[in-house]
Amino acid sequence: MQEVIIGYQGEMSLKGLNRNQFESATIKILRYRVKDAGRFRIWCAQSTFYIEPEDAEADLDLAFARVSKVFGLAAVSRSAVCEKDFGAICQTAESYLGAALARAKTFKVEARRADKTFPMDSPALMRELGAYLLERNPRLKVDVHDPDCKVIVEIRDRGAYVHGPKVPGEGGLPVGTSGRALNMLSGGIDSPVAAYRMAKRGLALDHIHFASPPYTSERARRKVIALAQHTSVYTGSCNLFVVPYTRPQECIRDNAPPMLFTVLMRRSMMRIAGQIARRQGCEALITGESLAQVASQTVQAIRCTDAAQDLPVLRPLIGMDKTEIIETARRIGTFETSILPYEDCCTIFTPPHPKLRPTLEEVLEAEAAMPDLPGLEAEAAAEAERVRIRIDDEPEV
Ligand code: ATP
Ligand code: MG
Repeated sequence: MQEVIIGYQGEMSLKGLNRNQFESATIKILRYRVKDAGRFRIWCAQSTFYIEPEDAEADLDLAFARVSKVFGLAAVSRSAVCEKDFGAICQTAESYLGAALARAKTFKVEARRADKTFPMDSPALMRELGAYLLERNPRLKVDVHDPDCKVIVEIRDRGAYVHGPKVPGEGGLPVGTSGRALNMLSGGIDSPVAAYRMAKRGLALDHIHFASPPYTSERARRKVIALAQHTSVYTGSCNLFVVPYTRPQECIRDNAPPMLFTVLMRRSMMRIAGQIARRQGCEALITGESLAQVASQTVQAIRCTDAAQDLPVLRPLIGMDKTEIIETARRIGTFETSILPYEDCCTIFTPPHPKLRPTLEEVLEAEAAMPDLPGLEAEAAAEAERVRIRIDDEPEV
């Protein structure tokens, strides 16, 4: 029996004029995401995407897992395909969904006839197929409101598709249709969630991570690579820039008032991120900041950080509680890696009492007393290592 994956278009179908663009972007993403699962034919017809294996080697389970994480799809299903013939449809429904029907007490048939040349209309198809299945499963009862098992038949151009209930997709917009941004990825819980949220709104991403060896370890670095890999099932393959941040960080530690250390370091990170973002054609920065979560995330501190460079800084978690962020981290599979206990450069050299309400004037004054800092930042940006994050690599910490 021939099986295919079907993806149902989400929000992009509301976009009117841009529809073709969204559809071809989605097809390109789907092709890329299932590449390592085998050979598939992928096309779009009537706002629906079809992912059809070309041979028996194709791994449909892996492809389905990948497709269900593609932004832009409101729902997905696996479906059997057969000829547009009532007898074939009955047999396919029985062999494909027979096991599910055997477990169910109640069922319902739904039919959609997109190809109007098919001789039975939808109500007739529902009635007749329902009768056929009842005859084979005499214990079953029809329940049109809340059935245990749904049998869905869609008569489309290329064939008849028979499947069970659709599974909700990720929704959102296809990655890349909103531009490109640079996500600031720490080893923590928040920043992978921030990447997920912005990719969901159609941004293609690269990541940047600041490492301060020997204060931060190789294992901490590997943890960040693993987080980028986990996130890549949503964002797609991308680059992770690892910035050797030790010297700028030591410069701030040795030359600035300890109370301002954190805000100065965050401004410095923003400047370096801004430089790399421009180099990579990224039009915005993303952080995992959440208002008032820590001293560097007060409104006044954020004002100081924002003034350090002029790309827009997107903070998708700004209004979220930690419990909500953790819920998402668990769902997208980053939480367990995030809580591994390796140090981040943000947690070294931090003063016991960082200033909660720094002013831009005092911050600029402290920076004026560190004339070497811009040079050290430029060097760090130039020496950033590019790590290629590929969706089919196994994360290892
Ligand atoms: P997270 O859980 O993402 O680490 P956090 O609650 O620990 O966040 P901070 O350490 O203040 O908060 O960092 C706030 C944001 O700054 C992070 O979400 C991330 O976007 C960025 N950031 C922090 N440390 C780094 C780093 N070493 N490299 C890159 N970005 C960083
Ligand atoms: Mg952190």
